[in-house]
Amino acid sequence: MTDSSATAPKPAPLTPDLCVIGAGRAGLALASAAAAFGVPTVLIARDGMNGTGHAANLSATALIAAGAQVQAAREMARFGITAGEPQVNFAQVHDHMARAAAVLAPNATAERFKALGVTLIAGEARFRDRNSVQVGNQVIKARRFAIATGSRPLAPPVPGLKEVAFLSEDTIATLTRRPDRLIVLGGKPAGIALAQALQRLGSAVTIIAERGLLPDWDAEAVGLVRRALLREGVVLHEGTEVLRGETPKGRVRLILAGEPEQVVEGTHLLATDREPDIAALDLELGGITSDATGIIVNAGLRTGNRRVYAIGACAGGAAGGLREPSVADHHAGLVLRRALFRQPARLGAAAIPRLVQSEPALAAVGLSEAEARAKAGAVTVLRWPYAENDKAQAERRTEGFIKLVTDKRGRILGVTIVGAQAGELITPWSIAVQKGLDVKEMAGLVLPAPSLSEISGRAALSAFAPLATKPGLRRLIGFLRRFG
Ligand SMILES: Cc1cc2nc3c(=O)[nH]c(=O)nc-3n(C[C@H](O)[C@H](O)[C@H](O)COP(=O)(O)OP(=O)(O)OC[C@H]3O[C@@H](n4cnc5c(N)ncnc54)[C@H](O)[C@@H]3O)c2cc1C
Repeated sequence: MTDSSATAPKPAPLTPDLCVIGAGRAGLALASAAAAFGVPTVLIARDGMNGTGHAANLSATALIAAGAQVQAAREMARFGITAGEPQVNFAQVHDHMARAAAVLAPNATAERFKALGVTLIAGEARFRDRNSVQVGNQVIKARRFAIATGSRPLAPPVPGLKEVAFLSEDTIATLTRRPDRLIVLGGKPAGIALAQALQRLGSAVTIIAERGLLPDWDAEAVGLVRRALLREGVVLHEGTEVLRGETPKGRVRLILAGEPEQVVEGTHLLATDREPDIAALDLELGGITSDATGIIVNAGLRTGNRRVYAIGACAGGAAGGLREPSVADHHAGLVLRRALFRQPARLGAAAIPRLVQSEPALAAVGLSEAEARAKAGAVTVLRWPYAENDKAQAERRTEGFIKLVTDKRGRILGVTIVGAQAGELITPWSIAVQKGLDVKEMAGLVLPAPSLSEISGRAALSAFAPLATKPGLRRLIGFLRRFG
């Protein structure tokens, strides 16, 4: 990798077709695909090729999986099996997280990218003007730029906690000892899943969610996640304002509004708010604007500067500032089609699935019931409970339901699933929402049995239920029966 910070004579400007800023999930996907198509590409990496949200996300997912194993062991008695309380060796859980994140390394080595023909530059990029960026003393004048700088954790916005050492999603994987008492600030997906995992692994966890638990999700489905957290011993403070914080003897103490005020104390604090990582880019010199959602882009992911795209977690405006990992891949593919193949690809935000890795898991695509009612007026809501599914019964995973929202013609507007494997079960519904399919087309799918997928099939079939009570149709069936 070129070390641009060296005090060597000023190198000649690089003039690739594409310059990708940020070697995280979105940047790596775009740079490797562009280079594979023979496009001269420069990739700028500030924190190496592995210091990315993708690695942090994998570690977090590994921690959540460890928590799920502990819980499964605790619940084995339901199957007639007993093995005693599971013992957690947190140092080994840490190693498990590291091993999970390490699988990314072979795909993100400097050698692999060099072999693909990508020119790598180590360092922090900033715009010099509308046509070029600079890293140290290296200038890059590219035909197109893609900003893929991701997001970074925000310090807790609580008076008295400005200097507190806090954990974020990025640093949770560095824990080698179990936090005794963990306070999670915020009610967002990653924080909720991590809170549940650490409670299962033996921490005493308190969640303080000023805006409530998962406020942007279907309230009925969130109710099941809330119930599970409380059942497992997580302490919840929802809708409660945090007035101030204190840090007595290295601990964290939060004072919550109320009559009287409540005090929550912990050994560790996990803060889950993030902001787009764009402050160092000197965007205004590049003719690029931003707001709280991130870099403002249009539906083609173009910024105010025609040469420059923004992708992944740093993209705001029409991209909505979404942080789902799937967004990074979706954006990379879209820019590849637009910039290299000149295709008129546009954001299809409605079809981006969202996932909370809690148990029960929560997954959604398209509009929620409330959004659909606001947008489409008359909607139909179809649902099917896990409890009516053979496999769910056999596996004792009966908590949950699927909810389909259609317009009055039957077009699927949105789907929410809460329950086991929700993140897997949402996949066909992503296709359905993206393609604007009719629910009756989904009802015609033949599904494997026994499987949890049958929950989806039964929900779709329930669209026909009103027909069964139509007197005219019943008379017609009666008439046809006479012919054998
Ligand atoms: C359970 C869970 C946990 C998650 N944890 C995290 C997490 O900890 N962190 C996170 O970001 N996302 C996390 N996510 C979300 C997801 O991983 C991100 O949405 C995804 O990584 C975004 O990809 P990206 O390429 O936009 O950004 P990233 O993968 O974060 O990559 C951005 C890259 O740009 C580099 N960069 C920044 N500024 C510059 C600059 N000026 N010049 C050169 N390089 C620069 C950074 O060093 C980084 O390597 C989590 C999701 C889930 C479900």
